[in-house]
Amino acid sequence: MATRAIHRAFAKRTVPFLTSQSLFLSSISRSVSTLVLAEHEGGSIKAPSVSAVAAASSLSKDNSISVLLAGSGPSLQEAAAHAASCHPSVSQVLVADSDKFSHPLAEPWAKLVHLVQQKGGYSHIIAPSGSFGKNILPRAAALLDVSPITDIIEISESNLFVRPIYAGNALCTVRYAGANPCMLTIRSTSFPVPPISADSKSEASISQVDLSTFGEDAVGKSRYVKLTSQETERPDLGNARVVVTGGRALKSAENFKMIEKLAEKLGAAVGATRAAVDAGFVPNDLQVGQTGKIVAPELYMAFGVSGAIQHLAGMRDSKVIVAVNKDADAPIFQVADYGLVGDLFEVIPELLEKMPEKK
Ligand SMILES: Cc1cc2nc3c(=O)[nH]c(=O)nc-3n(C[C@H](O)[C@H](O)[C@H](O)COP(=O)(O)OP(=O)(O)OC[C@H]3O[C@@H](n4cnc5c(N)ncnc54)[C@H](O)[C@@H]3O)c2cc1C
Repeated sequence: MATRAIHRAFAKRTVPFLTSQSLFLSSISRSVSTLVLAEHEGGSIKAPSVSAVAAASSLSKDNSISVLLAGSGPSLQEAAAHAASCHPSVSQVLVADSDKFSHPLAEPWAKLVHLVQQKGGYSHIIAPSGSFGKNILPRAAALLDVSPITDIIEISESNLFVRPIYAGNALCTVRYAGANPCMLTIRSTSFPVPPISADSKSEASISQVDLSTFGEDAVGKSRYVKLTSQETERPDLGNARVVVTGGRALKSAENFKMIEKLAEKLGAAVGATRAAVDAGFVPNDLQVGQTGKIVAPELYMAFGVSGAIQHLAGMRDSKVIVAVNKDADAPIFQVADYGLVGDLFEVIPELLEKMPEKK
C-alpha cells in the first residue's frame, strides 16, 4: 500500500499534467539564462562553484551565465577577476560589495539573490550542494516563491533533472514545471571541470550590483560569531584526488593519527565515518556520507569502515575503492574494487613502513 502511494507520488512528479500555463512556461524556459551563486576564499572561486558553472553550461548551448559574488574588500575583487576567467561559458560577473556580505550569512545573501533576480529575470539559479548553497538557496527560493530541486547529479534537459533518493539507493527523474526561476543545487562531484586550455580562456565582464535599495533590515537575525578551522596542508576533503577514511574500529583519537599519517604520505585528505566523528576521534567536518560530505575521488581508502548505506551515500561514486576490514562479510566489500580482510592495526603500520616518504 505504502509502496503504491510512493510510486504514485513520484509518477505525479515526473509526468506533470500539461496545462496551458505550464506549456506557456516551458516555452519561456527555452530561452535560458542562469545565475550561479559562487563562494570564494582567499581571492579565488571555490572549486564546487566552478562545477556549478559547468552544470549551468550543460543546461543549454545558448545559456547566458552570470556569476554572483558577494563580500567586501580586495579579496572580493580578486575573486571577481578569477570568476571572469574560471570557465569559458561565463558571460558576466556580478559583484555585491558591502560589509553586509563580509561573511556568507544566509539572510542577506537570500535577499541579494531576490534583488538580482528581480533585475535579471533569470530562468535558472544554481548553487553547489555544499553548506554554502544548502544554506542560501532554500531561503532565496522561499522569497521568490518557487520550489528548489536539490542535489542534482545529471541535467537531461533545461527542466529535466536526475537526483538521488533513499540515500543514493535510487535515482529520481524530476521535471520542473513551475514558474521561473528554476532553482537548483548540484553535486559538484557529478559536474567535474575539465582543465581549461589557454586558447579557450576568456574574460567575462565584471559589474557591480546596485545595492542602494538593499535596506538595513536585509541583515537578518543571525550574526557571525567566529570561524574555527584546522591549520593543515592536506587537500580539501571535497576536492581531493585521494581520500583515506577511518571508522569506529580505530577506537581512539590517538589511534586515528595512523590514518592522518597515511594520508600525509599519500598527499590525501582525511575522511571519517559518523561513528568515528560521534566518538570524538576527529571533528565533524571530516564526516563522509549522507549527513556529511559527498566525495568522489580517484582513490578512496576505507579502514575499519562497515559500509553502512548512509556512509556509502557519500563515497560510492569514487573511481577506485579500497577497503580493509577484518570482517569478510562487511558491506563495504560490496562496493570495493580492492578488498583486504585483515586487522587495520597490522595493515596500516605495514603500509606506513613500506611506503616511501612523500617528496
Ligand atoms: C540519519 C542517519 C544519517 C547518517 N549519516 C551518516 C554519514 O553521513 N556518514 C556515516 O559514515 N554514517 C552515517 N550514519 C551512521 C551509519 O548508519 C553507521 O552507523 C556508521 O557509518 C558506522 O560507522 P563505522 O563503519 O565506522 O562503524 P561500525 O558500523 O561500528 O563498523 C566498524 C567496522 O570496522 C570493522 N573492524 C573492527 N575492528 C577492526 C580492525 N581492527 N581492523 C579492521 N576492521 C575492523 C568491523 O568489522 C566493522 O565492519 C547515519 C545514520 C543515520 C541514521
